[in-house]
Amino acid sequence: MIGHRLLAPPPGWRKDSDVVVVGSGVAGVTAVLAIRRAMPSARILLATKSVLDDGSTRWAQGGIAAALGPGDSPDQHLSDTLVAGAGICDEAAVRALVTDGPGAVRRLIALGAEFDREPSGPLALTREGGHLRRRIAHAGGDATGAEISRALLAALAQAGASAELEVIEHALALDLLLTGDGRAAGITLHVLGEGQADGVGAVHAPAVVLATGGFGQVYSATTNPSVSTGDGVALALRAGADIADLEFVQFHPTVLWLGPDARGRQPLISEAVRGEGAVLLNDAGQRFMAGQHPLADLAPRDVVAKAIMREMLASRTDHVYLDGRSLGEQTWQHRFPTIRASCRGIGIDPVTELIPVVPAAHYASGGVRTDLHGRTSVPGLYACGETACTGVHGANRLASNSLLEGLVFAERIAADLAGEWPAAGEPALDDRPASVLDPSIVRPLQQLMSARAGVLRSGSGLSQLAAGLAGLGEQECDKPDAAAWQATNLHLVATALARAAFLREETRGSHWREDFAEPDEAWRGHLVCSLGLAGLTEVFEPVADD
Ligand SMILES: Cc1cc2nc3c(=O)[nH]c(=O)nc-3n(C[C@H](O)[C@H](O)[C@H](O)COP(=O)(O)OP(=O)(O)OC[C@H]3O[C@@H](n4cnc5c(N)ncnc54)[C@H](O)[C@@H]3O)c2cc1C
Repeated sequence: MIGHRLLAPPPGWRKDSDVVVVGSGVAGVTAVLAIRRAMPSARILLATKSVLDDGSTRWAQGGIAAALGPGDSPDQHLSDTLVAGAGICDEAAVRALVTDGPGAVRRLIALGAEFDREPSGPLALTREGGHLRRRIAHAGGDATGAEISRALLAALAQAGASAELEVIEHALALDLLLTGDGRAAGITLHVLGEGQADGVGAVHAPAVVLATGGFGQVYSATTNPSVSTGDGVALALRAGADIADLEFVQFHPTVLWLGPDARGRQPLISEAVRGEGAVLLNDAGQRFMAGQHPLADLAPRDVVAKAIMREMLASRTDHVYLDGRSLGEQTWQHRFPTIRASCRGIGIDPVTELIPVVPAAHYASGGVRTDLHGRTSVPGLYACGETACTGVHGANRLASNSLLEGLVFAERIAADLAGEWPAAGEPALDDRPASVLDPSIVRPLQQLMSARAGVLRSGSGLSQLAAGLAGLGEQECDKPDAAAWQATNLHLVATALARAAFLREETRGSHWREDFAEPDEAWRGHLVCSLGLAGLTEVFEPVADD
């Protein structure tokens, strides 16, 4: 079924716009506001598949990184980002990020975002792993994303609905419309609403901005919300765009295990809980980190995540435990009230009980490949935020660079559009048959992905995964609806990711192969994937040294 579009019959309704922005997280809303600022007369349609603030942005905790403090500089931020990216960042993209970053954060503040401040007035900047300077601005302590989302959506509301700006919630983007010569011509949408734009329709527009977030939902355990199904990557693939670095997925070692049938976002159990003395226990109640690393339970994230997965595989369980009973009521109440509340939400009080935890997919460094202006390989199609692969993260994201990337590259897209708007063209009819997969494949797909392309990867496991995914790809259904469309997208993204993870025979950044445990200079580059009539193909592009 690979290569087929989601929608066979012609759309039922039509709208016209100058640009369609898909997604209402930090990237999408920033793009809308920046395009409006640059070209007030442009007609913008913002489509989002759930409600406006449903996405990863509102859950971001730690903060946003930018060289704003004394003693810091974009060059220092650049250097820290390149180290985290393990040799394959696009240096020009990182330079754009760190140079534009401070101004982008200041514009966010001017828009109304309230960051935490020192008693004397300046921004309270903190440090996170990999940052050699204090440069993480945060809001409400650990509620940075919620404040950024609030401020951006307030500015959007202030811009108001008008002839130039239309916002449609519960509008699932299906596929890109293309002109006969392969340029973007708009998008098909499935709208669950009342009135004229209901059901499946088309928005004709010469520019489309994908800001659809990540794809954590290809895994059974993820910190990402349920909207993070990789739709942008899948529809870009079907439109012929290049995708890069899919194999680089960042995992968090401990999220709250919500039960075998849990769906959607799983709350983070911060490393700080282990920092205060909590320890990991296996199914038999034994500690297993001691002896694995000199820092035991406080070993680096990848070491802890791998050790947990090995325990789970050995005991055939789907979680381990975190024992934080030694922390006591006071520490739980004052240091970790949010985490305690999440635990209590599933009937567990960490003051007296063990917390079930599991490693979870957290951040996708790869995605739709773009240049420094957010342009993809399809003329008129842009991408920004987590769905894009701008090259700033390389093989591993430096903490708190992702919100910044969304801001900076959304603004760059607006600047590019202001320079030259893509020419309008009529969409060509696509007569390839539509086919979608049965939503019942999602659970087994997620379980396969976590077991074989998660924290522990090997050639044999990835081969088994490919066979399993191929089998699931046979399970078509004849009821195209939102669940089937998203299942089809998850399957395409999972297949492309599994292939890239299989091909990359080395360990680099967040891609860990048990059978190739070291980085290999021959693999210092990018796997660029595209989808043609013959299916998925990959090309390896080495990093060009200056
Ligand atoms: C728990 C957690 C903590 C994090 N902490 C930090 C942090 O401290 N600092 C940091 O920099 N980053 C952090 N991140 C990462 C960061 O939050 C995300 O990378 C960033 O918010 C992504 O923004 P975005 O706009 O690209 O996507 P999102 O905010 O995920 O928004 C995607 C949007 O696209 C919509 N959408 C998706 N598919 C479709 C479709 N087919 N049709 C229409 N609409 C669609 C969604 O509904 C949503 O509106 C964290 C992430 C998580 C999950």
